[in-house]
Amino acid sequence: MLSQKCNRCTKIIDPGDLFYRLTIKVFAEFDGIINIKSAKINLKEEIEKAKSYPEDLIEEEVYKEFDFVLCPRCKEIYCANPLYLPLG
Ligand SMILES: [Zn+2]
Repeated sequence: MLSQKCNRCTKIIDPGDLFYRLTIKVFAEFDGIINIKSAKINLKEEIEKAKSYPEDLIEEEVYKEFDFVLCPRCKEIYCANPLYLPLG
């Protein structure tokens, strides 16, 4: 197996070294509630708009997946603050 690099710090991960795979899936969630009162949506207009978007763009809006390789140090750093929140 070829050595690979940590996607965060670019450290070389040699064959047999411990490393981590980070997969992030971001997808649109829907709670089933359509708020008609607050939604000033012209459905016909929205459908027409959606039709004019390229399909892969719409897909990206609904689902996005990231796949990274991390060295143990970067895994620790990532897990300590996965949402990159300000440290208080
Ligand atoms: Zn790293």
